[in-house]
Amino acid sequence: MDGSGGRYACALPFALIGLLAGCSAPSAQPAQPSHEQPASAAKPITVDSTEEQIRQAVGAARFGRKLTPKAWPNGARVAVCLSFDVDNELLQRANPLPVPLSVGEYGATTSVPRILDLLDRHQVPATFFIPAMGAMLHPEMVPAILARHRHEIGVHGWIHEFWPGVGDAAKEQRLLDQSIAYLTKATGKRPAGVRAPGSGFSPQTFDLIRKAGFLYDSSLLAADEPYEIASNGQPSGVIELPISEVDNDYVYYGETANGSLPSPDAVFAIYKAEFDLAFQERTMFVLTQHPHVGGRRSRIVQLDRLIAYIKSKGDVWFATMEQVANYVKQARS
Ligand SMILES: [Zn+2]
Repeated sequence: MDGSGGRYACALPFALIGLLAGCSAPSAQPAQPSHEQPASAAKPITVDSTEEQIRQAVGAARFGRKLTPKAWPNGARVAVCLSFDVDNELLQRANPLPVPLSVGEYGATTSVPRILDLLDRHQVPATFFIPAMGAMLHPEMVPAILARHRHEIGVHGWIHEFWPGVGDAAKEQRLLDQSIAYLTKATGKRPAGVRAPGSGFSPQTFDLIRKAGFLYDSSLLAADEPYEIASNGQPSGVIELPISEVDNDYVYYGETANGSLPSPDAVFAIYKAEFDLAFQERTMFVLTQHPHVGGRRSRIVQLDRLIAYIKSKGDVWFATMEQVANYVKQARS
């Protein structure tokens, strides 16, 4: 289903789509509606750039230092975060017609309840990143998540807008403020974390996130364990709980994958291998799923299997991302 714009998933940066497609990043960018062209895109690095210009060009939000604590709670070997980017029909903003919208609606009507039941059965927590207007379109979703008293809800934009395409810092600031305010009202608690829609950071996004006082971000991919974000060479104090394009359902099942790896068994094998090394390295495993994608019948049975496998290892700490960030922060200080 081609939404011809805004069709990328939350945790799949344009550059990665380009790499996966074997194309140069610019030509591989999914079509965007004209008002969302990256007006505030970073200045390109060219052969004429000086060292200082290159340092500045890459400096907004970089890997600072690893923050994996010496020990996780109760002697666990690894922290496991199950995260769900609840995009639903907001990936179809550019062409909101009933049939493609219905593909996203499935996430709210069927997948989210199915996922909540699965998490109940395993008694494990998860983090749900929800665009504010996604919560508006499906007002039953947030109360259903909160009713479990185990899960976290984080910021995921206003309409799942691509922040580099917003055009100016003031408007981006307004959208972020609105998103925080909406979720604060809907959940009764100010969100502690944020995941950028489409993993889109404009040159000013990180500054806005830092100034908004988020405990953590979960949009970057510079490591596979917690780290502190450095901004323009300085420690920022913001914890990054990085995602991975490998531990994501969209690359295997989403529109951009074109069915190239449709086997849920194969996807399970990849996730299992990813977890196994995280367990061995005593760091962190973050899984990112999109309910309307990974919540399909044949796929969620593999998620069930994965959770059961992880639990069978013992010495594993299932936690919300907020819990992990708080633990890391306390261990750091
Ligand atoms: Zn998303």
